[in-house]
Amino acid sequence: MDIHEYQAKEILARFGVRVPRGGLAYSPEQAAYRSHEIGGNRWVVKAQVHSGGRGEAGGVKLCGSDSEIREYSSALFGRKLVTRQTGGAGKLIGRVYVEEALDIRQELYLGLVLDRTSERIMVVASAQGGMEIEELSEEHPDAILRMTIDPATGFLEFQARELAFGLGLQSGQVAEAAKIFRACYRAFRDLDVTMVEINPLVVTGDGHLVALDAKMSFDDNALFRHQEISELRDMSQENPVEARAADRGLSYVSLEGNIGCMINGAGLAMATMDMIKLKGGAPANFLDIGGGASPDRVLTAFRTVLADPKVEAILVNIFAGINRCDWIAEGVVQAFTKAEIKVPVVVRLSGTNVEQGKQILADSKLPIATADTLAEAAEKAVAAVAARQAA
Ligand code: GDP
Ligand code: MN
Repeated sequence: MDIHEYQAKEILARFGVRVPRGGLAYSPEQAAYRSHEIGGNRWVVKAQVHSGGRGEAGGVKLCGSDSEIREYSSALFGRKLVTRQTGGAGKLIGRVYVEEALDIRQELYLGLVLDRTSERIMVVASAQGGMEIEELSEEHPDAILRMTIDPATGFLEFQARELAFGLGLQSGQVAEAAKIFRACYRAFRDLDVTMVEINPLVVTGDGHLVALDAKMSFDDNALFRHQEISELRDMSQENPVEARAADRGLSYVSLEGNIGCMINGAGLAMATMDMIKLKGGAPANFLDIGGGASPDRVLTAFRTVLADPKVEAILVNIFAGINRCDWIAEGVVQAFTKAEIKVPVVVRLSGTNVEQGKQILADSKLPIATADTLAEAAEKAVAAVAARQAA
């Protein structure tokens, strides 16, 4: 789960990271009023959307008066911000964050991620902040420092200082930097975080280190033990079909093509999509119904796949181990009676109770195409789309 910048800053501040003074606003008037509460004479207004790259997309602006803040935020509210990370649809701006503007001497990069190779939290830092890490690793790969942390000892003071010195920070800033690095590590570990990024982490004119931006993502599977994090969810930032599926325990990924895929298991999903491509088609999405899918769950899965208007045919590919082909078949039949299916459906079943499953499909007399192999199923789905488009 992703959260907003202002939420990440509040969490990191609790762990000891210095952040700018700021206030959240839900309207242009509130944004203007925030500047009086914050004080000073220069403010930064920042669109709160779950994405980076807001600055270059016009979602961050330095303002010198409350009327300027009101005017700029009126243009933001209700609009969708399209950044290089959001895709063409963009993300709705429903909140803006107003902050005191800081005098910036230097911009650094700090990120913490899970490194799957070492199975440890990895701290990534660079003295070249401001630009995206992908860009940084292409243009200045030597300017990136990496350190993996041993979970048995945690992030030790001397390691944090070593990293700070590696960034070329002056002795006056090293202690503050080390405190921030370790605070991020503790937040990461304590809250089941999967990613923290402070870009930029700045050195201010008066020599302090401040998190000017903050991004955090959390492990969905651990949210049950962090209710206070779950509450930070903002559904306006999520793809509605993906969110709907996730809330029902289904993994769903939206893609660009026109064949909807219902599969059990991510590996089989990859193979199925490869096969569709090989046969000249393109998947619209894939939905992993997981193990032990009941007929009811299959019905929900159909509704989810059909919610995507791009879908012109559905390919069901089940290799039943824990699943049962008869339950899947029952679900498919129910879906026809309850889910208003107007597109061709191709079903390939294999594994546990496959004979019963095939019998249920045959007895239903419904227009369900069946296949014995994945290649045959993909071919039929691609042909069904072509026939529909020709008609
Ligand atoms: P992002 O584009 O979504 O990553 O948003 P950021 O929060 O990183 O803001 C983009 C850029 O705006 C930063 O890299 C800074 O250069 C600039 N910026 C943000 N806050 C301030 C501020 O308080 N003072 C100044 N001078 N620039 C700021
Ligand atoms: Mn940033």
